[in-house]
Formats: sequence, C-alpha cells, structure tokens
Amino acid sequence: MSELLDRPLRTAILAAADNPLVRRGVTRYGMRLGAGRFVAGENIADFLPVAREANRRGFSVAATLLGESIRDAAEAKGVTEEYCRLLQAFAQDTVDANVAFKLTHVGLDISPELALENASRIAAQAQATKNTLRLDMEQSGYVDATLRIYRVLQERYGCAGFVLQSYLYRSESDLRAMLPSAPNVRIVKGAYLEPPSRAFPDKREVDENYVKLAELALSHEGYTAVATHDASIVARVEEFTAARGVPKRGRFEFQTLYGIAEPLARGLVERGYRVRLSIPYGSFWFPYLMRRLAERPANVGFFLRNVFAPR
Ligand SMILES: Cc1cc2nc3c(=O)[nH]c(=O)nc-3n(C[C@H](O)[C@H](O)[C@H](O)COP(=O)(O)OP(=O)(O)OC[C@H]3O[C@@H](n4cnc5c(N)ncnc54)[C@H](O)[C@@H]3O)c2cc1C
Repeated sequence: MSELLDRPLRTAILAAADNPLVRRGVTRYGMRLGAGRFVAGENIADFLPVAREANRRGFSVAATLLGESIRDAAEAKGVTEEYCRLLQAFAQDTVDANVAFKLTHVGLDISPELALENASRIAAQAQATKNTLRLDMEQSGYVDATLRIYRVLQERYGCAGFVLQSYLYRSESDLRAMLPSAPNVRIVKGAYLEPPSRAFPDKREVDENYVKLAELALSHEGYTAVATHDASIVARVEEFTAARGVPKRGRFEFQTLYGIAEPLARGLVERGYRVRLSIPYGSFWFPYLMRRLAERPANVGFFLRNVFAPR
C-alpha cells in the first residue's frame, strides 16, 4: 500500500480506536480477529511457556501485561502485584525476561506520586531478583512525568530503563540531557497520534531522526535498545556499530514485537546480536492491537480474512 494512502488510514484506525462502538465490537470478536498472533494468552500461566520457547530460540524477552490509563488505585495496585509476581517467576524458573510497563497502567492518571510508589515496588522486586524494568513511553503529555520517574527509579534502584520516540521533536534534547548519566534507553519511532506541532509529520524525518538518536546513544556510555522492525534502520545500526567497534552484546540490543518481522529478528540472533522479543499478554489487548493495525494497515486485511475464514 502506498505511503500516501497509509497516512490517512493510520489516522482513521487510531481515531476509530477511541470509538466505544468499535472498541466493544472488536473486543467481543478479538481473538477470532487474530489478536492471538500478537498476544501470548491472558495470564502468567499462558505467558511463561511462550517466553521459555522464545528463550529456546535464542531471544531474550520483555514481558508486558496489557493495559493503560487506569483510574482506580486498587486496580493499579493489582497491576503492580502482577509485575512483582512475574519477576519472581522469572527468577524461580530462570527465564531470560525483564518487564516493560506503562506508567498510566500503575496509576499515573491518578497521581504521579502513586505511579512512583507502584513503579518503585516493581523496581525493588527487579533489583532483588537482579533483573531490570523499562518504562514504556506513552502520549507526549506523559513524557516529562515519565522521565522524572525514570530518574528517581534509576537513582534509587539502578535497574530502570526508559523510551524515547523519534517522531517527537523534543526527543533529541531529552536524550542529550540524559547522556551524562549513562542512560538505559530504548529508541522507537512512536505509536500514538501526535500533532505536527510536537511530532515530525513526515515518515522520512521520523526515520532519519531515529538513526540520529540511535547513533547518538550508541556513541555514549549507557545501554541502547534499538526497537524497530525497519530492516534499513537495522542495517544502518549494524554498520555503525561494526565501524565503531561496538561489541554485538553488552552495550546494546535489538528489540522487536512478538509476531512481527520474525525473519528479521531471527537473522539478528543468527548473526550473534542480543535480540529481545517484547511479548504482551492479558485480556486488555484492544488499544495494543489497534496500534499494531495502524502501523501497518495491510494487517487490516489479515484481520478481516480471519473474520470471514470458514471454521
Ligand atoms: C520492542 C518495541 C517496543 C516499543 N515500545 C514503544 C513505546 O514504549 N512507545 C511507543 O510509542 N511505541 C513503542 N513501540 C512501537 C513503535 O513506536 C512503532 O510504532 C513500531 O515499532 C513500528 O515502527 P517500526 O520501527 O517497526 O517502523 P515502521 O516504519 O512502522 O515499519 C517498518 C517495517 O516493519 C514492518 N512492520 C512494522 N509494524 C508492523 C506491524 N504492526 N505488522 C507487521 N509488520 C510491521 C513492516 O514491514 C514495515 O514496513 C515499540 C516497538 C517495539 C519494536
């Protein structure tokens, strides 16, 4: 599909995601629509065998319980406890997996204090089990609070990472401000609908800024997660690190989403890189699914074929 057609489709899909009727319909028929291709079941028991199998194939794993925008403190506490249980299970079963979560899933929409308290409990558990956590990045209105909480967690527990989105104009200065502290940063293009006043409207600029941010991070102390399915960006990062003598493991890793661009990820493992599969699970998969559809409108065809396929 041409890029010209892709952009309005992306916008339409992300806008439809906010429509309660669409939400109800897709949620009802979701698994039949093929959400299972991107999601490892509904609970920890479903998730663990998928993570072990990914380890067996040479991948590290990032676990995410799907969900966001929680407005109930008891629910945010439940999510926090689930992440602590996950980290305990990884330690007990020696699964090579860490956790990545959204601060609005642990209470940021209720208050930054609650989000920090809950994220701190997860960080304490990660530290106790010699593991790590990463704060996903959400809409641009959450960037300041997320970076503030990352700094506190990193100072207190030393096992936190954060994310910068190359579609945001501000990300380069956010990265430069973090560089002196040897940050653990994941670079992504960005998955939300942002206005042109905050984000590059042109995909080529987003891609160029991605490479710029990745090279900047890789040229400094810290740890960089190059999270993309874009084969040309992956090739440029491979060239850059080889030319600079950055070792294939220890200073950076590649990351991809479960169910997407598997041949690319497999090739990287075969060439000796560390690759982390981001594997989500849980029943609240609707917004996640809509973002994956918006990234590649051709996936809509895949979903519709699943709906109408004879069973
Ligand atoms: C590990 C990981 C963590 C992420 N964390 C965040 C986060 O915290 N915050 C945030 O805003 N975003 C996050 N994202 C999403 C990211 O911002 C992009 O929306 C997403 O990665 C698509 O961009 P791309 O880099 O793959 O490049 P694109 O230019 O979108 O895609 C490049 C190529 O990859 C393939 N591809 C991409 N997406 C799909 C898809 N859905 N289905 C099938 N093929 C596809 C296609 O071949 C496409 O041509 C994350 C992505 C990854 C991989």
